[in-house]
Amino acid sequence: MRRLNSEVVDQILQLRRSGRTYKSIASALGITLATAFRYTHPGVRERKRKELRLEILAHYGRGRLACVRCGEARLPCLSLDHIGGGGRAHKRALRRRGNGLYALLKCQGFPEGYQTLCMNCQFIKRSENHEYCGIEVVKYGNTK
Ligand SMILES: [Zn+2]
Repeated sequence: MRRLNSEVVDQILQLRRSGRTYKSIASALGITLATAFRYTHPGVRERKRKELRLEILAHYGRGRLACVRCGEARLPCLSLDHIGGGGRAHKRALRRRGNGLYALLKCQGFPEGYQTLCMNCQFIKRSENHEYCGIEVVKYGNTK
């Protein structure tokens, strides 16, 4: 997202102090509603992003805010894993990462195929999938 120059930010804050709503500020200054909201409601966007992340990680942690493999529960190292792999390509195809993906998953009603893993378990899984890809092929009955 483009950063606004400080002159526009000052105008937003001044209009806000005079009692204008973020919608009227957006149309007055020709900026998007999202941008006006961000400056008139500081912290709200960050709080909502955090809440969404926690909701997604708890859902895909099978009701717990923790790694489904090892139980690690420290928030900064938890992330969403594509169970079947291919997460990077999927995110690229969707043009979404992080919270954009979380919002999409919530909107889609929490589809299957994801799990909450800590970064250690993510790295271990990647390593295993690479090292044992022959075994994975046999396990899933794919004889190609
Ligand atoms: Zn783990």
